[in-house]
Amino acid sequence: MGRILLILGIIFLIWMAYRFLNETWSERVREVEEKARKESQKSKPIQQVKACAYCKTHIPEDEGIYEQGLFFCSYQHLDHYLEHK
Ligand SMILES: [Zn+2]
Repeated sequence: MGRILLILGIIFLIWMAYRFLNETWSERVREVEEKARKESQKSKPIQQVKACAYCKTHIPEDEGIYEQGLFFCSYQHLDHYLEHK
């Protein structure tokens, strides 16, 4: 009788360990998938086009410069704008 309980106990422990590992693993997989999804969203952003505060030329946001809450197409125009303000 004692032996059966011992075996049942071992099976129970293995089952618990399996469940724990399984949960930890699927959690990790979820995390990795989440990260990959965020990563791919980051690498494919929606291109925002903004107008330069100086020459009004529309260029992609990531190609311009933000300064004092204003957007500029180049450092030249940033300087011009700040000089002639
Ligand atoms: Zn400009």
